[in-house]
Order: sequence, then C-alpha cells, then structure tokens
Amino acid sequence: MRYYGALEGGGTKMVMAVWTEDGRMAERVSIPTRTPAETMPEMIAYFKEHDLISLGIANFGPLDLDPASPAYGSVTMTPKLAWRGYPMLAEFRKALDIPVNIDTDVNAAALAEARLGAARGLESCLYVTVGTGVGGGLIIHGKPVHGLIHPEIGHILLMPSPEDPTPDGFCPYHKHCLEGLASGPAIEKRWGVSAKELPPDHPAWELESEYLAQLCATAMLSFSPQKIILGGGVMQQKALFPRIREKTLDLLNGYLSHPQLDSGLTDYIVEPGLGVESGITGAWLLGKEAEKAKE
Ligand code: ADP
Ligand code: ZN
Repeated sequence: MRYYGALEGGGTKMVMAVWTEDGRMAERVSIPTRTPAETMPEMIAYFKEHDLISLGIANFGPLDLDPASPAYGSVTMTPKLAWRGYPMLAEFRKALDIPVNIDTDVNAAALAEARLGAARGLESCLYVTVGTGVGGGLIIHGKPVHGLIHPEIGHILLMPSPEDPTPDGFCPYHKHCLEGLASGPAIEKRWGVSAKELPPDHPAWELESEYLAQLCATAMLSFSPQKIILGGGVMQQKALFPRIREKTLDLLNGYLSHPQLDSGLTDYIVEPGLGVESGITGAWLLGKEAEKAKE
C-alpha cells in the first residue's frame, strides 16, 4: 500500500501522519521536538517505514520559500536556535528521495480550510492561529501567498487600547504588535493568570476581542479574503467570536459593503472547520501538490 506522508512541524512537537491514496488518514504519531540531530533521524525512520508517494511539510517559520534561493525550504530566523538555518526540505528530499513540498504551518492550515474546511469552495481565506504565538496564513486565488518572504501577520502593529495596562505588549522585536499584545503568553504576562484560568467576565477578553478585531478589520481592508478563520488555544474562548465580529464592524464603520458581510459577520469570522486538524491536513495537501508538480 502506498501513502502520502504529512508532517506538521511545531516548536514543541512534530506530528507525522500518512494518508491512503483514497484520502483517509491511516496513521498518526507525535514526537517531541528536540534538536535536528535528535529529531530528524526519528522522523526519517518513521517515514521510511511507509511506502510514500510524496511528503508535505507544514512547518513553523520563518521559512525560506523562494524556490530560486539556495536555502529554499530552510528554517530562517527562528528563536528555536537549534533549528535556525536548518535545511528541512533539502534533508527530507535527500533522505527519502520522493517529491517533498514545504510551506508554513499556517499557510498549510489556510490551504486545508480553503479546500476542505470553513472556507471550502472559496478562492481566498485568511487563517490565523492565536496561541503561544500568533501566525497567519493567506490563500488568494486558491494558493498560499508567499510574496517576498511570506506573510507574518502576527507582527502587524496595532493601536494599543487606552484600557491596556501593558500597552507596549511583550514581543522582543516590536512595541504593540499583534502577537505581543494578544498571544496566550501576552495575556498571561499582562494579567498574571493563564489565559485558560481567566473568568469569562474578566476585562482581558474585552481587550483581546478589541485587538483581534483590529486584526480582522486590517486584513479585510488589506487582502479582502472571502473568510477569516480564527483558531489556536486562545480561540477556545468561544465567547470571543461575537465580540470580535461586533468590534470589527465598529472599526470598519460601514466602509465595506457586501452581502456576505450583512449578517453581523457570523459567516465571515469563523472557527476552523477542521478543528485542530487544519495543519496536518494542509501538510497532506502540500504533499499531494508536490506529487502533481512532478508529473
Ligand atoms: P501552540 O500555539 O503552542 O501550538 P495552542 O494553540 O494550544 O498551542 O496555544 C497555547 C496557548 O493558548 C497558551 O498560551 C494557552 O494559555 C492558550 N490557551 C489554551 N487553551 C485555552 C483556553 N481554553 N482558553 C484560553 N486560552 C487558552
Ligand atoms: Zn512582534
């Protein structure tokens, strides 16, 4: 039996899965992310146990995604020092000798949502994960956007709220960027309590919805995606959704009009259709594209 391989590479764990040719996930395993010297042989051994048609990699970034670059498919400036500069794509290609494709974890998740999830049938969507970090993947004309590097929407600058006791946020690179203001760890540093423990009526959620609304309004004005999908640990707080929709409309102040925006954004700013499976599913889709590109 032949399979499509998929890898979702994260800072804490590596999720590996294989899909049958008729589109069923047959198996999935997860191992902790250590150094490349420790983790790579384990991953290669796992994929070698299967007769793979191709491999798709959805990896934490930033990545070099320019096919003309000598460092194509390498991890670039990550704070995960052991992985900085690591030639992920090249090493898997060398070890497995099959078509391999790579993109950011969030672009992969966006691709899966556009093909099979909440934005199924649409040509464009933005997928943002609000978790330990904040990252976004963008699909336009059915394809992940790379551009010069790839979008890093987690670091766009926001307008700090006058109600924010820590208006500079906590990003080591930027003052008041999205990740620095709205990630899970930012919430925890601001209030001294883990985001999971904060009660529903805590002012943290008002502030969080304000910042995510700024993201949504900016994204709508910048890229005009047909849907915005918000996932990640922090979005487990489902009560954020109606508040984000309402504040996004307030910020836009009637400037954008389209029938799809008429019903209070309930079908526009949504949860992931694939739950926590978007990333690994996107990796599978990337691997299938690699196989197609070979033909
Ligand atoms: P990662 O970003 O590391 O892949 P997650 O998307 O699960 O992982 O995000 C982890 C962050 O999400 C943590 O900062 C945690 O505090 C926050 N988080 C997890 N679950 C919840 C929850 N139910 N409510 C609010 N925040 C949560
Ligand atoms: Zn930043």
